[in-house]
Amino acid sequence: MDALFLHSAFDARIGKLNLETLKEKHCVVRVAAVGLCGSDLHYYKDGGIGGAQIRSPFVPGHEFSGWLEDDIPFLGLKRGNLVSVDPNKSCEECNQCKKGYPNLCPNVEFIGAPPFNGAMTERISVPISQIVPIPQSMTPAQGVMLEPLGVAIHAVDLAKPKLLETVAVLGCGPIGLLIIQVLRVSGVGSIIAIDPLEHRRNMAIKLGANISANSTENISNTLFKNGAPLVIEATNSPFGFKDAVLASEIGGRIIIVGIPDGDQYTLPAAEARRRGLKIKFSRRMGNVYPRAVELVVNKRVDVDSMVTNKFSLMEAPSAFKKHADNEIGLIKSLIIP
Ligand SMILES: [Zn+2]
Ligand SMILES: [Zn+2]
Repeated sequence: MDALFLHSAFDARIGKLNLETLKEKHCVVRVAAVGLCGSDLHYYKDGGIGGAQIRSPFVPGHEFSGWLEDDIPFLGLKRGNLVSVDPNKSCEECNQCKKGYPNLCPNVEFIGAPPFNGAMTERISVPISQIVPIPQSMTPAQGVMLEPLGVAIHAVDLAKPKLLETVAVLGCGPIGLLIIQVLRVSGVGSIIAIDPLEHRRNMAIKLGANISANSTENISNTLFKNGAPLVIEATNSPFGFKDAVLASEIGGRIIIVGIPDGDQYTLPAAEARRRGLKIKFSRRMGNVYPRAVELVVNKRVDVDSMVTNKFSLMEAPSAFKKHADNEIGLIKSLIIP
């Protein structure tokens, strides 16, 4: 099969991959669509994220949907059904798993994070336990978007927004835009969307933000001059944490969702300390797929508008490059193998 391989930073190539021999309790999914995620882009730009470095060529892709190659009777699924896949396989035996936090499992096997190959290929073998049944009325693109939507649901769960509370969302990439929409559903008040790119700010307004600004400094002079009681950071900037602190009111809450370029934060200690902030880090998600499906099916979240570009597998290397270059107009790109 053809597959997209990341060899090292800025080195994405199409190569050949053999479908692994089918293991017990696994099934084969013919990939319909794969999302290009910010984390995939970090592997491309930085050659890894923290300890998860590219040590040998690997196939990225953890947001995907596809058609089953076999029946799965106990799930009521038949060959040809469209399904989504939860990329996260936690061990179910460690302390974090037992406490109900599979997203924090240190023994996790995550499809599409090195060394585990992902879905930017034609077919993939996955554990049946990770198959997410979806309504057959859903499109492959919607099936892809359930994973990033799950990340947004988890972040908003951690934030515990209050009714009609003002929220600042930093970063209007796919995750920030999904967070804005989930915040809307949760009943918050004004949402301030902050992003340096105009097309992303426009999309944020379309999807439910009330006002937008191109930087945190530019909201500090407006009606939010005292900062927001809740700030959710979903940028890829090393300054995302600092900007979140500056956008927060005294005593405010911050949720850090983004992965910074270069894997380093910069943070002015006094600004954070004196504000007495409450800060949480959001890590992937828990068991949130049922709510993600419901939000999409009931059209309470618009994932379709966010899919701005589709590329064939052969075009995938150029898709990575376009995203690394922050090309105007790109929000979410899908690879269609
Ligand atoms: Zn992702
Ligand atoms: Zn575990």
